[in-house]
Amino acid sequence: MIQDIAPHRYDNHFAPLSPAPEDRIFLFSPPKLLAREGEGRVIQIPSLRDFTQLSGTFTYLFSIDQERFFLVQPEGVWEAPGYTFVHTGALRGCNPPEISFAAVTAGQLFRWYQDNRFCGRCGGRMERDSKERMLFCPHCRNTVYPKISPCIITGITDGDRILLTRYARSGYNHYALVAGFCEIGESLEETLRREVAEEVGLEVENIRYFASQPWSFSDTLLAGFFCDVKGSREPRLVDGELREASWFSRDEIPVSDDGVSLTRAMIEAFRQGKV
Ligand SMILES: [Zn+2]
Repeated sequence: MIQDIAPHRYDNHFAPLSPAPEDRIFLFSPPKLLAREGEGRVIQIPSLRDFTQLSGTFTYLFSIDQERFFLVQPEGVWEAPGYTFVHTGALRGCNPPEISFAAVTAGQLFRWYQDNRFCGRCGGRMERDSKERMLFCPHCRNTVYPKISPCIITGITDGDRILLTRYARSGYNHYALVAGFCEIGESLEETLRREVAEEVGLEVENIRYFASQPWSFSDTLLAGFFCDVKGSREPRLVDGELREASWFSRDEIPVSDDGVSLTRAMIEAFRQGKV
């Protein structure tokens, strides 16, 4: 999955650091990121020394091994010869995997800083805390932490069969699993039962945890579960979010692991009889 970058090590310990010439700099211009694309979907992030001049606000994000990554909000004119803006959609599954993960994760932090420049309570300008990754309002003491929305994803099984779905919306034609955001006041299990009922009109039981995944593209933390169908095996597309929900036996499953998403990892685990 996208976060599985071993033997490289992600360290998100917060510190108010300043960038050195060798540190990597994320410069976003939504929906794009300054980078260099090479053969084999290789992505390179510029280091501070790759800019002929760059001033602005630098924010330390995280490290991977000894490499430190910063976000910059540039001011004035800057140049980075050899680098261009690439669409952040291209970062999914690019190489090396640890840079793909770093860029996607940086994108989530960039959005969080961008979206919280002013206090939602009093309208004052937010400031950055120096001890933890937190924004605070000096006027009313409001505090804001990074946005991480919990979401469930579930493989509904019936013995040797799993229910795969396809979304109704255009542009995404791949098979997926039932998934959805947790609502306030719900446990993960309650979210799962509600989403299954809403999307495919089924009841489930024997909910069992599989794995989780940070999915920075949508500011979510995915919790993956398998569960068994209970009662009717006939899916009904209830809320219009899906256009297809079909049972596939292990040897009929039409998708394979992409090394990126929890969805595919779960489908592959079922196909191989590991769950
Ligand atoms: Zn305030």
